[in-house]
Parts: sequence; structure tokens; C-alpha cells
Amino acid sequence: MMTYAHQSIQGQPIDLPVGKVVCVGRNYLAHIDELGNQVPEQPLLFIKPNTALTPLEQPVVIPKNLGACHNEVEIAVLIQHPLKQASEEQIKDAIWGLGLGLDLTLREVQDKAKAQGHPWERAKAFDASCPMSGFIQLHKLDNLTNLSFSLRVNDNLRQQGNTQNMLVSIQALLKEISQSFTLLPGDIVMTGTPKGVAALLPGDQLSLSLDSHFCVTTVVE
Ligand code: ZN
Repeated sequence: MMTYAHQSIQGQPIDLPVGKVVCVGRNYLAHIDELGNQVPEQPLLFIKPNTALTPLEQPVVIPKNLGACHNEVEIAVLIQHPLKQASEEQIKDAIWGLGLGLDLTLREVQDKAKAQGHPWERAKAFDASCPMSGFIQLHKLDNLTNLSFSLRVNDNLRQQGNTQNMLVSIQALLKEISQSFTLLPGDIVMTGTPKGVAALLPGDQLSLSLDSHFCVTTVVE
């Protein structure tokens, strides 16, 4: 297995350590509805350890015998400066750039954990549960508030999102996260998935696009 290191979308190494991944659940209304969940009063946060990261270009490996493993395509934010109880003004400067990640989710394991009031880590934070693209530098994007992204599976559009439909914007989300978890250089924030989550199957061809900026393809093993 190839070990993960941050890289630019052109494949150049990024000189930042590989840290934790902080994720937000339920940040797009249409996805909340498709799973029959409630709109949270404040962002629902969870963490994947750095052992969850794997390069997206490598085949996506689905755990065996643990039920359906769902795709959740999400915009990923790479942090370059520490954020602790940050103000709005500190946020933009702290972002290295954006990529796309898959928040792979063992949905049946998660449903069981939810029903029992147990934590989600076995469903969300297992090894290689966070395949990650390269990152595009922030200054190459005109804005963070009207960015579209998509996941195609075997050439069919499965998920399509736009940051304008986030319940909590990228900047507000980073500010909120930094109240509880210090974000360190090399950490990644996953910003939530739009609707269209479904089981991935061995042999599926995936292509993930961030607006017109980049498209990355991979295969499910
Ligand atoms: Zn997610």
C-alpha cells in the first residue's frame, strides 16, 4: 500500500505533515433528507485519524463482510497555519488549498452504532476510509461560496454539490471547528456530502471533479 503524503493536483509534494481529518456530518439539506436525519443545531463533527488517508489515485479498497460501503464525495480543505479559537479574518490565510475526498462510510455499521447511541469510528475512521485527491492552491480559485463538485460512478452522475448549498460555509465551519479542535498545519477538514450516497461495488470506476479545476479518476477494488 502506497503511504499517503499531501500533494498538489499536479503531483508536486506539499511540505506539510499528514495530520488528522476533521469531518462535518449533515451540511447539505438534501443529504440530511435522504437519510431521514434531523438538521443539527450546530455542526456535527467527527474525526478520522491520519491512517484513514490514502491517495485517491490508488484503487479504493472496501472492507469485506461489513455491509454496504457508501460514497460521500466532499470538498477537502488543507490547513497550512494553526487555527485555535480562530476569528473570521484568520481563516483564509490558514488554508493551503482545496481538494476532493471520499468520506467512505460503512452504512450498516453506522446505522447499528447510531441505534445503540455508540460512536461512529468503526463506520467512518477505519484504515483507508478517506481517499484524498491532490490540492489546488487557494489563490487559483475565485471564491469558496459558489464551487460545484461531483462524483460520477461508471459514467453516471451520482453526487453533485455546490458550496452555496452548505448549511455552514467553509469559513464558518473552520471557525466553528477551531473552537473545539485546534487545526494544525497538515490537517484536513472535510466539509460534508451532498445527496446521492449509495453502495460502492468492486470494479466501479469513479471520477471526481472540482468545477472546471480538476478531475481525478480511480477504481474500486
Ligand atoms: Zn461525510
